[in-house]
Amino acid sequence: MPQWLRQRALLTPDRIAMETVREQLSFKQLYARVRQAAAGLRDAGVRSGDPVASLQGNTLDCAVTVYALMLLGAVMVPLNTRLSPTELSGQIKQSGSRILVTDHDNAAAAEQAVTTMGCMIRDAAELAQTAALFDDQETEIELTDPCTIIFTSGTTGRPKGVVLTYGNHWWNANGSLINLGLQQSDTWLCCVPLFHVSGLSILMKSIIYGMPVYLMKKFNAVQVNQLLLSSKATHISVVASMLQRMSDGLGSGQAYPNTLRCILLGGGPVPASLLDRCLRLHMPIYQTYGMSETASQAATLPPEYMREKAGSAGKPLFPLQLQIATDGRRAAVHEPGEILIKGPTVFSHYLNNASATAAAMKNGWFHSGDIGYLDKDGFLFVLDRRKDLIISGGENIYPAEIESILHGCPGIARAGVIGIPDHKWGRVPVAFVCLKPGAAFSETKLIGACRAQLASYKVPRRIFVLDALPENAAHKLLRRKLYMYYEQLNQ
Ligand code: AMP
Ligand code: MG
Ligand code: MG
Repeated sequence: MPQWLRQRALLTPDRIAMETVREQLSFKQLYARVRQAAAGLRDAGVRSGDPVASLQGNTLDCAVTVYALMLLGAVMVPLNTRLSPTELSGQIKQSGSRILVTDHDNAAAAEQAVTTMGCMIRDAAELAQTAALFDDQETEIELTDPCTIIFTSGTTGRPKGVVLTYGNHWWNANGSLINLGLQQSDTWLCCVPLFHVSGLSILMKSIIYGMPVYLMKKFNAVQVNQLLLSSKATHISVVASMLQRMSDGLGSGQAYPNTLRCILLGGGPVPASLLDRCLRLHMPIYQTYGMSETASQAATLPPEYMREKAGSAGKPLFPLQLQIATDGRRAAVHEPGEILIKGPTVFSHYLNNASATAAAMKNGWFHSGDIGYLDKDGFLFVLDRRKDLIISGGENIYPAEIESILHGCPGIARAGVIGIPDHKWGRVPVAFVCLKPGAAFSETKLIGACRAQLASYKVPRRIFVLDALPENAAHKLLRRKLYMYYEQLNQ
């Protein structure tokens, strides 16, 4: 294929490509700036096929870096800005990157991360001001070539580098397009991290569709609401905790205008009470299930099923197949099992980790490690991660179900559930909650509320209150940190 950005700049040079609070760039202007950054990276020694790490916030310069690396045929390794220097060094080393592109806000962390390594640091803003323009007339995109290596956000353990090809991104963008459709007026508000597949996939869609992206440096519910209420964007990607803050921020009687076409809601389980509330406010919620390994969105529930199939992540995107497996066979309707996915958005392999790749990829089916079931109409319901499943006296307990109930209790802002060892039952659930401002905490009342709504084996033995629940940069709950909290409490 031709270089995507070059082609886009050729087809619709004057359309808006990117907008931030400070700047607006057309595709032609974006392409020019990307050629400057590519020339700078080339001067720094970057060649086709090289892995190049990036430690940047959600800025225009970061987007320019992404596109410049694509222009050079280099493989972008986006790093999570919340990681510690040791974690960063580990991922830089693992990826084999000899150059780390960073920005002002992350320069100190970048310095610390590379102290003992032969890895050079380059500033993204300076690269974008290179005097020369990279001449890419000759370069083409090979769909089987690696494009990005994304370390999975690591909510379950040591992160793995997910190698995604151009073809994976291409099919994800096209699958999403077939699913959601596109209109001339569409603008996608990006307030999820660009170092995560959810943000990165918005950049890919932008140049493939010719669609403007409004880039927000950091998620801020007040600013997001202002933008949506003033019809500045038609699409937005969020995780549940972001949507919660957005709906909390709406005044009574206030609702989003119908210029807002799609709130793509994914990344983790969604509390039933939050969904209910969004339904009442007529929000265009598209519940979605996806992950780094499928280049983002893999299944989606269109809003017309939001009531009838509340809580479902819908059906697979057009290019994908989905199956539930248990004990090496296909699960029956409603029977929980591991979610398997097959299709052209499924990643190539885990970087330098043949055993993890072999364990995840069998007969062309990717084993997601998530548990779910299909209903009689083929709608997917995601229950939880297999690793977070609590087995208590032979019964399966999905932490997300208990979290959803707790979240619906008055005064509770967020809840996290883990299974702790118990000599009689194997494991029993305990919960952690954080409160809404000014709310009072009563463990007895909360346990009573759970008792009224859940089978007794699912009722948390203890409920602890925390100032905030541990989450990763994509605002996903880090349950493994709750285990550490629990151990500290018991010392
Ligand atoms: P990541 O690879 O970091 O993007 O995380 C992907 C993981 O998030 C999936 O494997 C699921 O465990 C979780 N996830 C994504 N979407 C959903 C959903 N709709 N419901 C429940 N869990 C989800
Ligand atoms: Mg992950
Ligand atoms: Mg994962």
